[in-house]
Amino acid sequence: MEEIKITRATALKEKPDPSKLVFGKAMTDHMFIVDYDEDQGWHDPRIIPYGPLAIDPAAKVLHYAEEIFEGLKAYRTESGSIQLFRPDCNIERMNQSAQRLCLPQIPQELALAGITELVKLEQDWVPSAKDTSLYIRPFMIGLDAALGVHASHHVQYIVVVCPVGAYYPEGLDPVKIYVEDQDVRAVKGGTGMAKTGGNYAASLRASDLAEKSGYSQVLWLDGVHRKYIEEVGSMNVMFKIAGKILTPDLNGSVLDGITRRSCIQLLKDWGYAVEERRISAEELFQAAEDGTLEEAWGTGTAAVVSPIGELAMGSKKVIVSGNQIGEITQKLYDELTGIQWGRIADPHGWIVPIC
Ligand SMILES: *Cc1c(COP(=O)(O)O)cnc(C)c1O
Repeated sequence: MEEIKITRATALKEKPDPSKLVFGKAMTDHMFIVDYDEDQGWHDPRIIPYGPLAIDPAAKVLHYAEEIFEGLKAYRTESGSIQLFRPDCNIERMNQSAQRLCLPQIPQELALAGITELVKLEQDWVPSAKDTSLYIRPFMIGLDAALGVHASHHVQYIVVVCPVGAYYPEGLDPVKIYVEDQDVRAVKGGTGMAKTGGNYAASLRASDLAEKSGYSQVLWLDGVHRKYIEEVGSMNVMFKIAGKILTPDLNGSVLDGITRRSCIQLLKDWGYAVEERRISAEELFQAAEDGTLEEAWGTGTAAVVSPIGELAMGSKKVIVSGNQIGEITQKLYDELTGIQWGRIADPHGWIVPIC
């Protein structure tokens, strides 16, 4: 691999107050960039001062959403060291997204070096207060400057990082969820299994409307039958029904979440039956009516797990777990955050130490 060239910022920014961090706002002093050109492959990996990108106004990413991204975190342990959680899974997934969007494959070693070298350089930015971390946002954009609809030959992979606070400063708070019956996020054959900006653009209207009606997220139904549950907001979703754990299967329009995968592994370790299958909204509301819907929660890197306290569909409303965090939801949160911040053992080899 080509050596990463580092150009340091001449003036460093003031670090934000760790108790007042707003998600994704306080970007650090540097960023990682590597170029791809079809005839050269990946070249010129570099860390440069954080700042605006110069992009041709005709660049494909700006018109046709030729973009993919990832999200992971660097955690500071009690001893002061810094570590990542399953970064290999993020890079693998980025390459799967790249394949769907006709973007080039990036070698695992290069993509990971971009992350680890930037985190090392910005290590003073990794906060140490409880539940805080450094959020890492790798992304890839198609930059050919031409308005024809074709895959780009010139591409960049960029990594930016920012300190983020505790997702729940007051403890795990159950959220109210609305079952979306108008808009869909993704359909089979579309880009639902890719982590790409277009899926998020398509989701904005429904989440805006839900928020205006007092709900914090929407529960997405499948785009074909409008019947089966797919995800909650930008998280995967799990339910405990009559003692069993249920989660939608990876049907092509559901994103293969790393938190989802890790939760399934932990639940199996603990002896729970985990079913990955189609779950209709009707089945879910029926279980709630029968009193067998015991817990519901979302899973994702940002929040880890997010308990669901209320579900609404049309005029129907159900309260889950008495609007309290459920036992399994709490246990998953404690176990995963324990592993991520190095407070408990990591039997699956998920942790990658950085410095
Ligand atoms: C990123 C993402 C998730 C969660 O994935 P993690 O790897 O657990 O962070 C779930 N759904 C969507 C749509 C996502 O973009």
